[in-house]
Amino acid sequence: MDRILIAGNWKMNKDAKGTIDFAKKIKKYSFNEGDEVCLIPPFTDLKILKDELDGTNIKIGAQNCHFEDNGAYTGEISSEMLKEIGVEFCIVGHSERREYFGETDKSCNKKIIKLLEKGITPILCVGEKEDIREAGAEQSLISKQLGEAFIGIKQADVPKVIIAYEPIWAIGTGKTATPEQAQEMSAFIRGFMSGLFSEAIGECMMILYGGSVKPENARDILRQRDINGALVGGASLDPKSLYELVKISADLKK
Ligand code: PEP
Repeated sequence: MDRILIAGNWKMNKDAKGTIDFAKKIKKYSFNEGDEVCLIPPFTDLKILKDELDGTNIKIGAQNCHFEDNGAYTGEISSEMLKEIGVEFCIVGHSERREYFGETDKSCNKKIIKLLEKGITPILCVGEKEDIREAGAEQSLISKQLGEAFIGIKQADVPKVIIAYEPIWAIGTGKTATPEQAQEMSAFIRGFMSGLFSEAIGECMMILYGGSVKPENARDILRQRDINGALVGGASLDPKSLYELVKISADLKK
């Protein structure tokens, strides 16, 4: 695999001090120029992290955004505001936002369109709950999630979107999908995108796996043909384990 991205989703963790501590520790490790790393802290830590990581190749991402530039949307943050502080990635449709905050495929679609307009890379999360998998309906659910999220996206923009396959039963549970399950679903997603747009587009999509990835299980997941990286929650909170994940990626790219 020539590209492997490690994206660390901090969720609602770390205050300003915790963010500065993390940045100081991660900067002590040496990264290669080709390492692709992105940290996705809470909104209040974005600017702090951006400033602390200045001069490194670690990028920053946001966990959510609104699909309008500004207006009467109390409590929301726009992609325009994110762009202003140097955010390069933004998660769209994380399962926690779908489950607790009413995120829908339609709102994901609007957010993707707006983020692309601003030049921010959307990381679209798709994935099934355990009962859906038990019923053998995971592929039809993911087809629906992808089909709706990509409505009206120009062909040339499609590969700018990163897709993260995150089986909900594996998020924060310690229960990782097997490398075979992760590969099977990533290959399915690639094939679905080929069918929706073209084989060339399907082939160049970046597809991440997310769900209890940690240094102990990352190698077997990241070496799969159709997996281009990981969206990592818990393990990205610790600088050492984040660095180990980046090193595993660098090894696999050799
Ligand atoms: C996530 O937050 O997207 C995630 C995959 O979390 P964890 O790695 O903790 O399962």
